[in-house]
Amino acid sequence: PRTFVVGGNWKMNGTKSQIDEILGFLRKGPINDFTEVIVGVPAPYLEYVAKSVPQTVEVAAQNCYKALNGAYTGEISPPMLKDIGVKWVILGHSERRAIFGESDLLVAEKVAFALQNGLKVIACIGETLQEREAGKTEEVVFRQIQAIACKIKDWKHVVIAYEPVWAIGTGKTASPQQAQDVHKALRLYIATQIDGNVAKQVRIQYGGSVTAANAKELASQPDIDGFLVGGASLKPEFIQIINAKQ
Ligand code: 13P
Repeated sequence: PRTFVVGGNWKMNGTKSQIDEILGFLRKGPINDFTEVIVGVPAPYLEYVAKSVPQTVEVAAQNCYKALNGAYTGEISPPMLKDIGVKWVILGHSERRAIFGESDLLVAEKVAFALQNGLKVIACIGETLQEREAGKTEEVVFRQIQAIACKIKDWKHVVIAYEPVWAIGTGKTASPQQAQDVHKALRLYIATQIDGNVAKQVRIQYGGSVTAANAKELASQPDIDGFLVGGASLKPEFIQIINAKQ
């Protein structure tokens, strides 16, 4: 069985005092002991959070570059993250793709580089509303996953986050069935086009307007192995989302 994994993606939110409140509810929990928990923290606060979170919570950066160091103003390298105690990185988020122009190829190169340098990766994929309405959901997510598959062999330290762009920050969650359908199709694609064992073992999170109110039903779907939570990860209801898997 795949360990349920819930990530909180804080995006570009939080002040020191808000972060102390978040750390407060994470410490208070209670958090069940069969769910892996990761918080995705803005770069300036990574080291502080890595030092202050409860031991059972891991910390992710929200991006990193595909070089060890050098003339890349504004970028962060995997060794820098490891140096400050960060074990995970979120890559390929739809906001990185849409606002900062990250291509499938760049995302795949970053995933490969982060893994080579000892980070674990939450790799995000997902279709836009226009793509869904054109019936292209599977084509898009298969293309995004295949780009990554062309650059890596070992998926042990990869979690896939399926985040339909139309569900992100909109309050329009994918229905449990809509999410399950895509997760199942992705797993079948991985089984037939990539590797049968990877398909069985790789965890696929759902992301997009997950709340305490909808998390339980989503968590009961057989191919949903966790969540990547934006807005609700800043609030105490994140604890209920972490504990949604029965
Ligand atoms: P929301 O939960 O705010 O919709 O954001 C989802 C997301 O983008 C997580 O990475």
